[in-house]
Amino acid sequence: MNSAGTTMPDEKPVSPNRIALKQLPDSSEALTEDFQRYQFYHLGRFHGCPAVYTYHALAWTLRDRLMSDWMNTYAERDQPGKRRAYYLSLEFLIGRALSNHVLNLGLDAASREALQSFGQTLETVAEEETDAGLGNGGLGRLAACFMDSCATLNLPVMGYGIHYEYGMFRQHIENGYQVEEPDHWLRDGNPWEVERSEFTCRVPFGGHTEHFHDKTGIPRARWADTSDVLAIPYDMPISGYRNHAVNTLRLWKSAATDVFDLNEFNAGSYSEAVQAKNHAEHISMVLYPNDSSENGKELRLRQQYFLASASLQDALRQWRAAGNSNLMQFAEHNVFQMNDTHPTIAVAELMRLLLDDERLQWDEAWAITSRCMAYTNHTLLPEALERWPVALFERLLPRPLEIIYEINARFLRQVAIKWPGDIDRQRRMSIIEEEPVRQIRMAWLAIVGSFSINGVAALHSRLLKEGLFRDFVELWPHKFNNKTNGVTPRRWVAHANPGMTALISSRIGEGWIADLSHLARLKPLAASGNEAFHAEWRAAKRANKVRLAALVEAECGVTFDPSALFDVQVKRIHEYKRQLLNVLHVIHLYNRIKHGHLEGSVNRCVLIGGKAAPGYVMAKRIIKLINSVADVVNNDPDVNGRLKVAFLPNYRVSSMEIIAPATDLSEQISTAGKEASGTGNMKFMMNGAVTIGTYDGANIEILDAVGEDNFFLFGLRADEVEALRGRYQPLSYMERDPALRQVIDLLISGHFNPCEPGIFDMILGAMMSPNDPWMVLADFRTYVDAQERVDQAWQDEARWTRMSILNTASSGFFSTDRTMQEYNADIWKLT
Ligand SMILES: *Cc1c(COP(=O)(O)O)cnc(C)c1O
Repeated sequence: MNSAGTTMPDEKPVSPNRIALKQLPDSSEALTEDFQRYQFYHLGRFHGCPAVYTYHALAWTLRDRLMSDWMNTYAERDQPGKRRAYYLSLEFLIGRALSNHVLNLGLDAASREALQSFGQTLETVAEEETDAGLGNGGLGRLAACFMDSCATLNLPVMGYGIHYEYGMFRQHIENGYQVEEPDHWLRDGNPWEVERSEFTCRVPFGGHTEHFHDKTGIPRARWADTSDVLAIPYDMPISGYRNHAVNTLRLWKSAATDVFDLNEFNAGSYSEAVQAKNHAEHISMVLYPNDSSENGKELRLRQQYFLASASLQDALRQWRAAGNSNLMQFAEHNVFQMNDTHPTIAVAELMRLLLDDERLQWDEAWAITSRCMAYTNHTLLPEALERWPVALFERLLPRPLEIIYEINARFLRQVAIKWPGDIDRQRRMSIIEEEPVRQIRMAWLAIVGSFSINGVAALHSRLLKEGLFRDFVELWPHKFNNKTNGVTPRRWVAHANPGMTALISSRIGEGWIADLSHLARLKPLAASGNEAFHAEWRAAKRANKVRLAALVEAECGVTFDPSALFDVQVKRIHEYKRQLLNVLHVIHLYNRIKHGHLEGSVNRCVLIGGKAAPGYVMAKRIIKLINSVADVVNNDPDVNGRLKVAFLPNYRVSSMEIIAPATDLSEQISTAGKEASGTGNMKFMMNGAVTIGTYDGANIEILDAVGEDNFFLFGLRADEVEALRGRYQPLSYMERDPALRQVIDLLISGHFNPCEPGIFDMILGAMMSPNDPWMVLADFRTYVDAQERVDQAWQDEARWTRMSILNTASSGFFSTDRTMQEYNADIWKLT
């Protein structure tokens, strides 16, 4: 990996004269020369070689140009007394890096010229890069957007994650069904990572604990006979936008220690001894493909502890290397932001390191830990609340478990003092759940151990405080806050939508790319009297739609007409996101066309995409339904092109870069109260799509920003959904609404599955059950009505153009630059 011969400094305090490592020249001549050197002398490839080699040669050329900024940023961060934040996340859904660095470094023209000498375009070469898909969906992509914004804001933030060998699975569709295939994303090597074996850590597992008194008579614990695993860091550069800042994302890869089990070894069990090696290497082998639920898998807990332990050891080492030594100042200099409960074992692990390794007293260690941990909650779905069996902890993490017990005992004493005799409250608030089996409530551990707890959109944070976290809010109201999510405008507009980017910059300059609030200056241009601008706006959108239509044609064999309304829902497939509601509307449109009711409706191309967790049977069946409906609709001559439906396979970051800029209508139709924030909604809005959505998550803030004239709102509100529970009568909606009745009857009749009878019964059963938690049928009518308003608006081209411009112009708030500024002002307090 390091064959380019680039080296990095060690992490000793850097004297000022070591700062300002010289930049490599970035003229197009210099780039061309380096690029050709890599191509010919390093890779040994010539004109006409497969494009992947050209990609690698360009990536190396650019990486070299990141190195000086990377080293200098590191040196600047690495000084005594400097405060830093660490973002702990099991997921970083990064996508491709090349074009992002080209944009950030301002090397577009130079790169294109270098490639021209090789007869290649930047676009085709960039296509060769495999997405770094180290995440499931929104939560992982958020981490990636945060990293981008922190670098652009020049905030000293380092990401810590896992270097999975296999990222998010690749999705194929066979006979309409999802088929998963492993994603060996590192097969061709990863030019964007630097292995730093010099910072390898040891992470203990198993064994048992021993208790003793040290020389001064203080009780101490030792974690003995552990099976250790090595954690080797791989660093990825995170470049800021044209500011010479390059932050680090440090990903841990697991490896066996070279110490074999000597007993087994000597007993002649060589292969069994080597097995242990295998076991260690499994930890970072694969990303768990469940979006918002994980159920008790031992390997997953190993991953969590592996990340937490290695990262904390590394942060302590860095802090010392920067010249600090007084541990009582550690919390002044360091803050750890935990991305959901996944890395929450970090609370116990920092205590362990401070108690057992650093020999602090409990109160000192707790003062430090509870002042440098911060927790972000990402979901209210009950199945996503992590609980780990105590029995598993006893076997895998006996020492952290003892520490959790002690944290809990001290915490419950506090609860008992505040609410004497309130046993039920103590039971509710205990970190240990007793019934039905003893389990550790990771969210409670996170809350008790953190000084800040935030939700990810205003509604979500409010619902957390009123519901799940209510007891804790009564105890510590000051800990709770909101940080509405965002997305990075560099990747999601400047890179993904060059046409619109050029148009916007031609009117308001380029400042918006680093300060998205500037987009508000487009608002006056939305008014009539700006017809030239409007025509250019439509032309940019149309070019993007032509590009997406080509992708859909290639991937799905379905022809999308760029003059039709592009109606898009892409996100993980989950019942709460209600792809089913979308399908019901498609069937409704189809039914109308079949009955000759064409008045008022417009030509639509409906695109749906997303992965289902491999074990989520219902979600996989919904994919089959979408494909079955698409088959019938697209091949029915009566439909005659008025309606097209496609399921785009293998939805990922790089496909979203083509999808969002081409979308007219963004579907954000979750059951109210269930989507914590959503971030897909923001990418669409920035790119001039209009949203049809429920009053949920960040949709609410999008609606506030753009105004109800420019948003298609429908459906029950969160409180109405809750009020309806227990008395929900799905059949009554069918009785009252003949259109819904006909849609359901079509499904029941097997119209979409003549060759596979009965396959959609489970879906019908779920929708028609009074216990349907997602209340799909309850929102059908208002959804269809809202879609009719969409049709009307679309038929008025000037009106739609105005709405589109106003959506982009109002999207400034949804930049992760703003989100990161809020985290910094309220939680991290970095300088
Ligand atoms: C933005 C994004 C998501 C999150 O989408 P939501 O609609 O907010 O669920 C998921 N996956 C990918 C690839 C994304 O880019």
